[in-house]
Amino acid sequence: MNTDRSNAGSATPLIDSYGRHVTYLRVSVTDRCDFRCTYCMAEHMQFLPKREVLSFEELETIVGAFVARGVRKVRLTGGEPLVRRDVMTLFRSLGHRLGHGLDELTLTTNGSQLSRHAEALAASGVRRVNVSIDSLDAERFAAITRRGRLVEVLDGLAAAEAAGLAIKINMVALAGINENEIAGMLEWAHGRGYDLTLIEAMPLGETGMDRSAAHLPLTVVRDRLQERFTLNRLAERTGGPARYFQVAETGGRLGFITPLTHNFCEGCNRVRLTTTGRLYLCLGQEDHVDLRRALREDGLPGIDAALDRAMILKPKGHDFRIGRNSVAGDPGRHMSVTGG
Ligand code: SAM
Ligand code: SF4
Repeated sequence: MNTDRSNAGSATPLIDSYGRHVTYLRVSVTDRCDFRCTYCMAEHMQFLPKREVLSFEELETIVGAFVARGVRKVRLTGGEPLVRRDVMTLFRSLGHRLGHGLDELTLTTNGSQLSRHAEALAASGVRRVNVSIDSLDAERFAAITRRGRLVEVLDGLAAAEAAGLAIKINMVALAGINENEIAGMLEWAHGRGYDLTLIEAMPLGETGMDRSAAHLPLTVVRDRLQERFTLNRLAERTGGPARYFQVAETGGRLGFITPLTHNFCEGCNRVRLTTTGRLYLCLGQEDHVDLRRALREDGLPGIDAALDRAMILKPKGHDFRIGRNSVAGDPGRHMSVTGG
């Protein structure tokens, strides 16, 4: 198997058939998690077999191939990335790529293990973390996550701050569940210097939750927030689905991720690698290539060829739709598998 880094990639940038430049890789380092958020996972989840999971060495090789092809940003996610054993080893090795083609290494986490890992993350070169919190009420937090403890996440945030990490809070907006907390979450987050991004729940896999009933269009949320706050649109785009505003009263940044009410797929710059090496080209579609097989059978040239195929396969966008009594566009794959 050829894994010599000097052969990594042909340096041809990753450009798909719609002319979109792929510069951002999200990696699900595990599909497992210590929480079971009602909109993300079922209570009893069938996880991917451990024997099929990519080793850190394989992940490092694959990420290297992406960086050689122009990927500048890597986010480790999951599942919960910090529950994978020895995951700091991976952060450290990927961190060595910062400044050598890679501009940013970051993660999305539920925060439950952050107090243990914040310092090591910062030492590996991570500068910013996304932490998911859907409620600041301990009981409601426990109900949404099915097994999370808010106090542990708040301890994690304190540790992240102490380590000098910038923090963005992700909050999934859920009708009748946490919608009355959104304004309070904004004041709380901005009061601590954190950014806040609100997310519409997408139909991704069966979880036991009634997705139609919980659907809360962020257009409605934005109108409500504008009764209290002045939202000034920021020009900044991340190539992602979020649109950002500066909130005049708090001075903080507020993002909206609106896959249901407004799809921004035309600017999509990202692809997602599962923990078993499948590269999905869209969160909401089936199109994928198998990078584990490509690597194990043909080494780096195999990965390069698979990435060329992937660019042809990347679909125009997702087909998510949620109506009053209907849900469509679910690829039947949980976000924790694809890498949220
Ligand atoms: N476990 C980590 C966490 O919760 O931050 C990382 C993985 S999680 C899948 C990444 C993000 O996806 C979280 O902010 C979570 O709230 C969000 N998420 C999960 N399922 C979702 C869904 N069906 N629709 C929208 N967002 C979802
Ligand atoms: Fe776990 Fe994150 Fe999914 Fe919640 S959203 S179940 S924390 S992977």
